[in-house]
Amino acid sequence: MPNAFVFPPPPVVSLPVQGSASRYPVRRLYCVGRNYLEHIRELGNDEKEPPIFFTKPRDAIEQDGATIPYASATRNYHFELELAVALGSGGRDIAEDEALGHVYGYAIALDMTRRDLQKQLTAKSGPWDVAKAFDHSAPCGAIHPVEAVGHPARGRIQLTVNDQVQQDSDLAAMIWNVPQIISRLSTFFELHAGDLILTGTPAGVGPVQPGDVLVGRIDGLGSLTTRIGASL
Ligand code: MN
Repeated sequence: MPNAFVFPPPPVVSLPVQGSASRYPVRRLYCVGRNYLEHIRELGNDEKEPPIFFTKPRDAIEQDGATIPYASATRNYHFELELAVALGSGGRDIAEDEALGHVYGYAIALDMTRRDLQKQLTAKSGPWDVAKAFDHSAPCGAIHPVEAVGHPARGRIQLTVNDQVQQDSDLAAMIWNVPQIISRLSTFFELHAGDLILTGTPAGVGPVQPGDVLVGRIDGLGSLTTRIGASL
């Protein structure tokens, strides 16, 4: 192997696959915003507007059981529990009725958010990157293959913080379901195997503090535990 790089390339970001010794290599991390009506209402956003897309860098991913630092540059660091869709193939302009055929599996994820910065940026119609796409902002659990769990279109999605229930909803409450998300996202980007899509959060979002323990659960997908550490 020739020494072709001026410094070592970054490591491959991957997630464990439930029931397998092989891991799922992550290519991109897409997110849907405003995909549950009660969450749109709790943040005071326009409920007639359709959901939106944004992205996070793949190296924002943290593994199940991680302790992540309380984010810098925020005084209102929030959790958002979400269903993650893991693609096993992709394409452009994918039809809704073919979309589920591109799904490899599903996982539990958190879309950690600097809420104060997001509100400021939204008011200025500015980009959300510093509010959403920062280091350690995407804890994600094991990928559960479709062959084991099917395509969960309904089922409980629940987050506890220090054993207190903070978010408690059902996947059926999504405004755009998974086929609609994949189809619409594929009109903007050519999708590929390894792309993860976070599908939006239900109501009940709120702040975390150093020392908090977050446990997310989605029916059939196990749990995701994330601890909040000290500020960087
Ligand atoms: Mn979100």
